[in-house]
Amino acid sequence: AHLDRIAQVDGEVHAFLHVDAEVALAQARRVDERIARGESLGPLAGVPIAHKDVFTTADMPTTAGSKILENWRPPYDATVTGRLREAGLVILGKTNLDEFAMGSSTENSAYGPTRNPWDLNRIPGGSSGGSSAAVSAYEAPLSTGTDTGGSIRQPAAVTGIVGMKPTYGGSSRYGLIAFASSLDTPGPFARNVLDAALLQAAFSGHDPLDSTSIDQPVPPVVEAARQADVAGMRIGVVKEFGGEGYQPGVLARFHEAVELLESLGAKVFEVSCPTFGYALPAYYLIAPSECSSNLARFDAMRYGLRVGDDGTRSAEEVMALTRAAGFGPEVKRRIMLGTYALSSGYYDAYYGQAQKVRTLISRDFDAAFQQVDVLVSPTTPTTAFPIGERADDPMSMYLADLCTIPSNLAGNAAISVPCGLADEDGLPVGLQIMAPVLGDDRCYRVGAAVEQ
Ligand code: GLN
Repeated sequence: AHLDRIAQVDGEVHAFLHVDAEVALAQARRVDERIARGESLGPLAGVPIAHKDVFTTADMPTTAGSKILENWRPPYDATVTGRLREAGLVILGKTNLDEFAMGSSTENSAYGPTRNPWDLNRIPGGSSGGSSAAVSAYEAPLSTGTDTGGSIRQPAAVTGIVGMKPTYGGSSRYGLIAFASSLDTPGPFARNVLDAALLQAAFSGHDPLDSTSIDQPVPPVVEAARQADVAGMRIGVVKEFGGEGYQPGVLARFHEAVELLESLGAKVFEVSCPTFGYALPAYYLIAPSECSSNLARFDAMRYGLRVGDDGTRSAEEVMALTRAAGFGPEVKRRIMLGTYALSSGYYDAYYGQAQKVRTLISRDFDAAFQQVDVLVSPTTPTTAFPIGERADDPMSMYLADLCTIPSNLAGNAAISVPCGLADEDGLPVGLQIMAPVLGDDRCYRVGAAVEQ
């Protein structure tokens, strides 16, 4: 049924870069065989899933949305991919994304943008916009994403679905094509909070192949989603997120969600996080710095594209020609920014300074979580914007992640759940719920209460 739905709507939505019905059906048959053999599989066995094309898959191409990896077939599965298979999920195909997960709209994909199923002229968010659109358009009940600065929560918010960024290190980066290694976090998309929790539980947990993976039990996310009870919880509204620059319809739905939580027995406080205003500039030094280092591996020798190798050119010339042809403008902008910020003489002024801001943001979270159990804010300042509107203005594009970035810098858990439609445009609004490091269950508990 999902393959049929994809055939029906994906020509317009363009959520997928690659769909392989044969591979998917073969996988589904293997799940049937395992069940017939009496193997006891988890609750998601046999459920189809759309997989972000930034996780390696041994049986499907992996492009990261870039020309430089066109037609690349990875020799191995990412840990997340392997765990999906182990749990019996059926991978339908790979979803579109901003090139190397850099962007907030999927317009930076080398393979063309994905469209928002609510309004095909608008963006589905990014970078995991293919994954959010696939779930929102009923092409898949579940999908995977990665969140470096907001790339799960922002697309979830603007397409009216649930998207969760687990605690950094709670889900494995092994086989995830790296953007900014100290921030990248795999997480789930679903149409309801419990499904997202089941999916997170299926693929997260310690992985010895990822040196930053946390060697502790996965927080009780499924139990929390079932609990869905906020009586007596302390909820902090982040004072700095709201007001100027926020769409009135977004703020109206956000305030209603806070009132709902209060009516369900939560105690609501206003909490100030004075350094959150510096999160965006700090992120745009740290993320490009790490990207400039990570993307050095695309050297025309080991992966994908190779341009100008006609026997007359040096390896350096081939490398330069390949990178010039294979990377898009946003990726080049980030490599240049990052290389500059890391260069000797500037390192202390930019990268070092940004790392200090990062520490201050973590301290703001620590102080806040002394007072409250979770923090809440709108997920995004506005609803989905029209395709093309911000494409030539990187600064306004970057603002889409204003509210989501602090949790990446501090590594704590945060979820976006739908909280209604904005009056001005009838488009979905997301409520962001932030919890401490390894407090993922709190996100699900509060999220499930809002959903009821
Ligand atoms: N939009 C942000 C960026 O462009 C975040 C992307 C992400 O989370 N992968 O970097």
